[in-house]
Amino acid sequence: MRPYLLLTPGPLTTSETVKEAMMSDWCTWDEDYNVGIVEKIRKELVTLATSRPEDYTAVLMQGSGTFCVESTLGTAIRPTDHLLIAANGAYGNRMGVIATYYGIQHHVLKFEETQPVDPKAIDTYLNEHPEVTHVSVIHCETTTGVLNPLAAVAEVVKRHGKTFIVDAMSSFGGVPIDMAALGIDFLISSANKCIQGVPGFGFVIARRSLLEQCKGVARSLSLDLYDQWDTMEKGHGKWRFTSPTHVVQCCPNKKLTFGLN
Ligand SMILES: *Cc1c(COP(=O)(O)O)cnc(C)c1O
Repeated sequence: MRPYLLLTPGPLTTSETVKEAMMSDWCTWDEDYNVGIVEKIRKELVTLATSRPEDYTAVLMQGSGTFCVESTLGTAIRPTDHLLIAANGAYGNRMGVIATYYGIQHHVLKFEETQPVDPKAIDTYLNEHPEVTHVSVIHCETTTGVLNPLAAVAEVVKRHGKTFIVDAMSSFGGVPIDMAALGIDFLISSANKCIQGVPGFGFVIARRSLLEQCKGVARSLSLDLYDQWDTMEKGHGKWRFTSPTHVVQCCPNKKLTFGLN
C-alpha cells in the first residue's frame, strides 16, 4: 500500500459508476457518442458555467489541463495583443512560460504565494499600461490552495474593457462561477478535477462572439481552439482528431449540476 490516499491526478477519487463506464467500447466516429455524449457534456458545461448559456459555448480538448490553457492563450491572443498575467503561484507562472513559448507580449504581475492576487495592483497596472488587451488569472492556485478574489478582479478587468481569461481548473464544479455575471470571456478547466472524471481531456467555455473572431489566430495545429470548436459545432460533437472516448464516456454527467446547487 502506498502511504497516502489513492487519488487520481485530479487529485480526486472516481466513483464505481465512473469506473464501470470504462468497460464498454466507444468509437470516435459513433453518432451515439458524438451527439449523445459529447454534445450533452458541452451543453451541460455551459449551463453549469453561466446564467446566460446562449452567449457561451464549450470546446473539449484532448490532453491535460495545461493543453487547454495553452490552447486558449495561443488562440485568443494575437501577436499584436498584450497579456497581463496576475500570478501568485506555479500555475500563474506557467501561463507566463506558455506566453514566452508563443512569443505573446506579456507581463507577469507577481504576488506572494501565500496571498491572493490584489485587484488594486491590477487596476494600477492597467491604468499605466493601456496596451494590455487581455488579463488572465488563476481562480484557485491549487499549489497553495489560495482562492483568488474572482469577482473583485473581474470588476477591475471589465471596467478597463479587457478580455478576461480564467484558469478555474481546480475550482470549476466545486465553487459556483457565473461567467456572464462576472464578465469572464474564457474559462478553462479539466475533466479530472472537481468534475471528478478521469484524466485525458480538458475544456474551455468561451464567450461565443469572441471565439468566433479567433479563426486563423492559433500558432499550433492540434491546439487550435477555434478549429476544434468549429469542427465540434459543424460535426455535432465530432472531435478534430481521435477523441479520448473512454475518458469522455466516463465524464460523470450527473455531477455536472453539483457546483450550482
Ligand atoms: C491542475 C491544474 C492545471 C493543469 O495541470 P495539468 O497537470 O496539465 O492537468 C492548471 N492550472 C491549475 C490551477 C490546476 O490546478
